[in-house]
Amino acid sequence: MMVSAMRNILVLGGTTEASALARALAEQGERATLSYAGRVAQPGAQPIAVRVGGFGGVIGLVHHLQASHVTHVVDATHPFAARMSSHAIAACQQLKIPMLALTRDAWQPGPGDRWQSVADLPSAAAALSGPPQRVMLAVGRMHLATFAAQPQHHYILRLVDEPNVLPPLPHHTTIVARGPFDMAGDIGLLREHRVDIVVSKNAGGSGAQAKLQAARTLGLPVLMVARPQLPARQEVTGVADVLAWLAMADSGVTVAHSVTSRDAERGV
Ligand code: NAP
Repeated sequence: MMVSAMRNILVLGGTTEASALARALAEQGERATLSYAGRVAQPGAQPIAVRVGGFGGVIGLVHHLQASHVTHVVDATHPFAARMSSHAIAACQQLKIPMLALTRDAWQPGPGDRWQSVADLPSAAAALSGPPQRVMLAVGRMHLATFAAQPQHHYILRLVDEPNVLPPLPHHTTIVARGPFDMAGDIGLLREHRVDIVVSKNAGGSGAQAKLQAARTLGLPVLMVARPQLPARQEVTGVADVLAWLAMADSGVTVAHSVTSRDAERGV
């Protein structure tokens, strides 16, 4: 494929999809940089340039895009990384840089699922009021403090890295593991830790879905946290869609399958 000599792509990463896109861009010989927030101690090696750390808000991102002569931005952050995504929308609008989000469809409940949908993490914590339970909390280390409001439970925490500060939950078990996970393994985990209820962000994708399939198999309830709202933007769900968008972005053609708002997938 012909690569535009002018193109310089910034991929906002932190997801499996961002890494898959990085591989595809490298294969096509594109000039691209993958940006990490720096939350994970040792992210995997990447075949394109990598930068790490926040930009410093919208202003910092605008400066970065200008100084690095970025021509296209692909936001492949996690669906719950709402601040970064909002900043990317604002900065790209300001500079009139084409931007596309590479995201995943939200998970939807199927037969046998016992999901209770909640709007956000504080609502998930509030829904846990009541007698002590054994709660699998698969929400990431940044959000554990929210659940300190319900200290009566024993929390089973699955985290990517060993926490460097003690989780603010009086009763907990920490499991350090990096996905993707599989259903048999997660059934074993839920059984071994005698989990009563699972708390999950509606991340979508396959890497973290095993715990939901395991909960269904064991008949366990799930508190499912809906995705945060974002300003309207163009979204796709496949790496091939991003490549098609890059090929067409210069010509002004809109890529099929894209949507402009996340509202359509908030049906959980
Ligand atoms: P966030 O709340 O939207 O972002 C907070 C701040 O972190 C942003 O304002 C930005 O700082 C910086 N940041 C976030 N993503 C960045 C990136 N890719 N490159 C450079 N700076 C970035 O996001 P978060 O929830 O903290 O997530 C941080 C990262 O972890 C994201 O890359 C995301 O894809 C990944 N991740 C998040 C989750 C989740 O559940 N939230 C799960 C798995 C992976 P400045 O304002 O200084 O630019």
